[in-house]
Amino acid sequence: MDIDLNQTLENIAEFYYGKRLKDCTDRELYYILLDLTKDLLKGVEEIKGDRRLYYISAEFLIGKLLSNNLLNLGLYAEVRDILKKNGKSLAAVEEYEPEPSLGNGGLGRLAACFLDSIATLELPGDGVGLNYHLGLFHQAFEDYKQKEYPDPWLSDNSWLTDTGKYFPVQFGDFSVDAHLYSIDVCGYTKKKNPLMLFDLDTVDESIVQSGIGFDKDDIRKNLTLFLYPDDSDDAGRLLRVYQQYFLVSAGAQMIIEDMKAAGYPLQEISRHAVIQINDTHPSMVIPELIRLLMENGLTLDEAIEQTKQTCAYTNHTILAEALEKWPMGFLEQVAPQLLPIIEELDKRAKERSDNPKTAIIDENGVVHMANMDIHFSKSTNGVAKIHTDILKDTELHDFYELYPEKFNNKTNGITFRRWLQACNPQLTDWIISKIGTGFLKNADELAKLLPFVKQPQALKQLAAIKQEKKEELAVFLKNRQGIELDTHSIFDIQVKRLHEYKRQQMNLLSAIHLYQEIRNGYKPEQKVTIIFGAKAAPAYILAKDIIHAILVFSQIVDSDPEVSKYMQVVMVENYDVTCAEKLIPAADISEQISLASKEASGTSNMKFMLNGAVTLGTDDGANVEIHDLVGDDNIFIFGTKSEDVIESYAKGDYHPQAVLEAEPEVNDIVNFLVGEEMMALGDPECLHRLHHDMTTKDWFMALRDLEAYMAERKKAYAAYADKDKWYAMALTNIAMAGYFSSDRTIEQYNKDIWKLK
Ligand SMILES: *Cc1c(COP(=O)(O)O)cnc(C)c1O
Repeated sequence: MDIDLNQTLENIAEFYYGKRLKDCTDRELYYILLDLTKDLLKGVEEIKGDRRLYYISAEFLIGKLLSNNLLNLGLYAEVRDILKKNGKSLAAVEEYEPEPSLGNGGLGRLAACFLDSIATLELPGDGVGLNYHLGLFHQAFEDYKQKEYPDPWLSDNSWLTDTGKYFPVQFGDFSVDAHLYSIDVCGYTKKKNPLMLFDLDTVDESIVQSGIGFDKDDIRKNLTLFLYPDDSDDAGRLLRVYQQYFLVSAGAQMIIEDMKAAGYPLQEISRHAVIQINDTHPSMVIPELIRLLMENGLTLDEAIEQTKQTCAYTNHTILAEALEKWPMGFLEQVAPQLLPIIEELDKRAKERSDNPKTAIIDENGVVHMANMDIHFSKSTNGVAKIHTDILKDTELHDFYELYPEKFNNKTNGITFRRWLQACNPQLTDWIISKIGTGFLKNADELAKLLPFVKQPQALKQLAAIKQEKKEELAVFLKNRQGIELDTHSIFDIQVKRLHEYKRQQMNLLSAIHLYQEIRNGYKPEQKVTIIFGAKAAPAYILAKDIIHAILVFSQIVDSDPEVSKYMQVVMVENYDVTCAEKLIPAADISEQISLASKEASGTSNMKFMLNGAVTLGTDDGANVEIHDLVGDDNIFIFGTKSEDVIESYAKGDYHPQAVLEAEPEVNDIVNFLVGEEMMALGDPECLHRLHHDMTTKDWFMALRDLEAYMAERKKAYAAYADKDKWYAMALTNIAMAGYFSSDRTIEQYNKDIWKLK
């Protein structure tokens, strides 16, 4: 940049606050930097082309934007140094940036990483989503339980820009106007794309009362309040359908407007637009686009064919409950104009195959969104090799037989700008000192680090960086939650949404076992800090019981002076991107222990690996590819294989009672959940419910893998004792992480599906 940044910042400080930079508060500095950065982004060149991607998604978990934007604008170091000269720190200033609450977990974070890579590769593409005012929810812990509160993040001064555009959306018996906002997404080569977010002016945050409760029927006031409103009743489910139709109708109108503005005939829309449907939430874009194309003069056949060639679908899960299906009655109420089109699509699908498993509308009049996506889009992809194989062989096998050419794999990735450069500048600088800057543009060059695995000096430097990141995390958690960490312990971290299939409960049981052993006189060589971070869906009772058990157990450990010499259990409140950026660089062990076949890919596994943590996990999702890359010696793998899990489900032959009878030790561990110590602090109802479920149902087979997990975990802790060997493992993981750059993922999407240039 050829501006005098220091002077510009002084000028803004003078203009807004009548102060010198050095006299501004951190909050004022944040607004000064926001102002400067937004202004600079305005001047950044927009990415253009004669074919454009629309990545449509219910979530974009973008995280704080200041550092990332400064980094991509090439100003990060300069701004940091200017602040430093004025006695300020960029990190402290960033504390005042609210994290945008536009996402939930992996799927939303993936969308955010993709936007960064799409812009960096200079591909023309918009993100298309909703502007939730209060996010998913803010998690607080009270009485060892999760409590949900609104998570307001919007203020007069945010990254949003008002485009001034409105699109009318017709619901059954009323209509609304979707108001379009945008956020600039600047790539690493200083060109930008927009994230387009629709909102509704009449939405009223004041209707939210007692936690996150509100009138679910008042659509004009509640439509864009929350991401994934509680769907445990019909009103909540209906609200989700309203949100989805609002997103796709406004989105499809925007796309058509773009096409018209560029002078492209809609008969050829598939030559100029591609819509990537991120999971099933935006599936109604298919019938809506068909409807709008027909309004614009295409015949039904033309509209269907063009839509099919324009849309592509990404599947993110094989969990049945996540493959959305809506009763026809819901669609009739929300968007009756779509019904004849969906019925037509269903008729054509049934002509293609009379297999009831591939029907769009089933015999109960329920619409299966994923089925519509697969029939009427040109591509269906899974998100890791094993996941795509399971889709083809098992879950979507009938579709695979119909359309083998549509199925393809795109293993997920993460943006190294955020997950290495911004969150771990120390490690970034160290890598540059060893192999130069080439890896910043070509992540595969990280493999040049491999020879350093044999250099003790290099490994010591790496260990020193890990220590520094642990200390930073300790300060962060002390400030945020008042927790004290022992930074000389092993940091063993599991952070991700709370779900039984991810098996936080198995981690807890293993920690309980360690506690029992220490109580019985075992003295571990090395202290361990087991850290959890996870939000549970508000209506997911068992997930909340697991959080409760973790929080109670954490207190039990803390209160025991003997045990707490050797272990600590921590649960981080309100796990979000900001938190992840602190936790992940500080980790020694990355817990990736899902029941094999259930985790489609995972992306935190990639973030941990890139930051020099060693994976302790099952052969599931992208762990399988991590395992292939680093080899048996640089990962800790255990547990039932996915084929065996799938077979067990098919046969229904897994019973936790059998494990409890065969393995008395497991029995002792599980019974701790309802033992005296837990009962003294915890809620008996929650703990008994969890215990009952684990001993009678255990749908995700935590007990089956518990012994194997505990043995492998001990192996990992023992390996940590040999520091040279440990950091050689850590460095091997960093060196092999290049494959997981989302730049690679996006190049593959572009080559196989989008064909943008
Ligand atoms: C990466 C990320 C996730 C996804 O984690 P998984 O372990 O892959 O499920 C979820 N939440 C946040 C905040 C993340 O950064």
